[in-house]
Amino acid sequence: MSLSFSPFEAEFDVLVIGAGHAGTEAAVAAARRGARTTLVTSALETIGQMSCNPAIGGVAKGTVVREVDALGGIMARATDMATLQFRMLNRGKGPAVWAPRAQCDRGLYRRAVRTLIEEHPLLETVQGTVARLLFDGDQVIGVETLEGRRFGTRTVVVTTGTFLRGRIHIGTTTSLAGGRAGETSATHLAEQLEHVGLEVARFKTGTPPRIDGRTVDSSKLDRQESEIEQFDYTWSHFWSTPRRDSTGVTRHPAQLPCLITFLGTAGKQLIETHIGESAMYGGAITSRGPRYCPSIEDKIVKFPGAERHQLFLEPEGHDTHELYVNGLSTSLPALVQLDILHSVPGLEHVRMTRAGYAIEYDYYPPTQLDATLQVRALPGLFFAGQINGTTGYEEAAGQGVVAGANAAALALGLSPLMLGRESSYIGVLVDDLITRGVDEPYRLFTSRSEFRLTVRQDNAIRRLAPVALALNLYNQEEEAIVARRLAAEEEARSLADETSIRPEDALPVLAAAGSAPLAHAVRISEVARRQHISLGDLFRVMGVGADLPADAVISTELEIKYSGYFDRERLQADKLRRMGDFPLDAALPYDEMLSLSLEARQKLSRLRPLTLAQAAGAPGVSPTDLQNLVIEIEKRRRAVPSARGRVRRRKT
Ligand code: FAD
Repeated sequence: MSLSFSPFEAEFDVLVIGAGHAGTEAAVAAARRGARTTLVTSALETIGQMSCNPAIGGVAKGTVVREVDALGGIMARATDMATLQFRMLNRGKGPAVWAPRAQCDRGLYRRAVRTLIEEHPLLETVQGTVARLLFDGDQVIGVETLEGRRFGTRTVVVTTGTFLRGRIHIGTTTSLAGGRAGETSATHLAEQLEHVGLEVARFKTGTPPRIDGRTVDSSKLDRQESEIEQFDYTWSHFWSTPRRDSTGVTRHPAQLPCLITFLGTAGKQLIETHIGESAMYGGAITSRGPRYCPSIEDKIVKFPGAERHQLFLEPEGHDTHELYVNGLSTSLPALVQLDILHSVPGLEHVRMTRAGYAIEYDYYPPTQLDATLQVRALPGLFFAGQINGTTGYEEAAGQGVVAGANAAALALGLSPLMLGRESSYIGVLVDDLITRGVDEPYRLFTSRSEFRLTVRQDNAIRRLAPVALALNLYNQEEEAIVARRLAAEEEARSLADETSIRPEDALPVLAAAGSAPLAHAVRISEVARRQHISLGDLFRVMGVGADLPADAVISTELEIKYSGYFDRERLQADKLRRMGDFPLDAALPYDEMLSLSLEARQKLSRLRPLTLAQAAGAPGVSPTDLQNLVIEIEKRRRAVPSARGRVRRRKT
């Protein structure tokens, strides 16, 4: 009998390093594809930990959560289990761009993620800090932990967030190694990744202080209540039946309010006085941070005219009084932070439970990756999340799904998961990262997509279920649920297209929306095309579709309203692509082009591209910016011939 000796404790198809938002989704996606998967992370208790604000969703990000969900991910399900306050953002702009956002109970969210992970029979978890990757030539074959445990694998997904050579700064004199407050940074792995020749750079981010809610004078502050009942919202409603009581009313988890206050003149003066002691302004940190989550120091310096800055006091959980001070991210010394807090209405006697801080960390410019998020130079090695220069839980989760599904595909010889820009925000995110790279922490916005009216949060399942089905990401029960859901939409569409509505029946719905009455009977879908007219209301007055799920009816209504837009958006995107050679004058006054975002104005002023294609390649210049740039230039050109015309007229 011959005994074979393996150098590894166990062997897997996919090994994921790190259990943040990218790592957990990567592991689930890999396991769903049938890969034997292990998730190796420094502490099992911190699986699904939210490093900063315990909130999921928001503009564009909420759509990503729905996309992750449609691809079999766990972020939406965990959010449903942990929501303690819900808001629908962008309500002034119509349902197509509504953006759900949930404040979560931090502890519940963590536990929910761990529970959901442990449901997967092919997915194991291991506590350990990976010290190095093991290679055979360029091919990754395993990892070794600081504790000396070795695991063999066909592919590795690295999702180590802000931990690689993470350094925390509070003021200019306190600087300590750390991946997140209270957790050590990972240096061995960082050194090895640099040693194997990957390009590495540094970014920074920051977080605000936390306070003891029992020491807040809430009588002085406005409350912002949850809107969960009003919207009857569940993120993962495709899969779970909302909790309904015997009267049919949905029962959501207990909700808590947020409190609203502001930083005023006294706080501003404190920051101005101590600005030189801030890690970011006193020279301790030199790397770039997220433009759209600025520190309070940044806000005071960049907007000196602003009299006050709004702050939201957000509950951290049901089991704690701790509050997160949203809007006050800072790297000033702790004592100064406390003085600033005491200057804020309602916080005059507040106790600070944790000081805010800034953190610098390694990231790897994502142009080193291919469209599957595999490192081009090192087969079998995938990167996802903050390590690729992004910021945000949702951006990390979206990349996690792509990297995990593709690591499994490579290990098992399956087809890769590739999402186009027209199919999803995740497709936009991956494409932006690998083709343009990043020059500051990247976050998603609707303006980054050419297809923002057709790529919506309500239709994620319609867009992505075919992909998930083709890649076997669903179990049998989920396949049946998706089939029922899509069939309900088809039925709603048929009812809308086939049912006639008479002027007198439509009148109450039209009058309530301030819309003109009908002259004669038409199909319901004709009427539903009008702005502010609800398909559900039209069904109700006609007594049809009562058994259809409300969200399927809303999706159908939006499909009817925006059916013409997809082709229009695609034509516009094609036109922009064809206009790559469109010349740009090096002296264009970008600063004056107010229809461009501030980010685009700044970057184009700096880069001075000579063609539209060069402008399109600049990180942070969105398709909307490019469209507006062409319009601005054409406007200026039209102005010039009329001047020439005046000259000619004078000659004759
Ligand atoms: P993380 O969530 O950081 O997860 C990394 C995981 O890897 C952790 O589980 C860690 O334990 C594990 N790990 C690391 N190294 C190893 C190793 N060698 N071996 C094993 N396991 C390892 N985003 C915003 O959108 N807005 C903000 O305002 C914001 N502020 C932030 C403030 C701070 C201080 C921090 C730290 C982050 C902030 N973020 C913010 C970013 C957001 O938290 C991240 O984008 C998101 O968590 C990234 O997810 P990730 O999965 O890539 O990494």
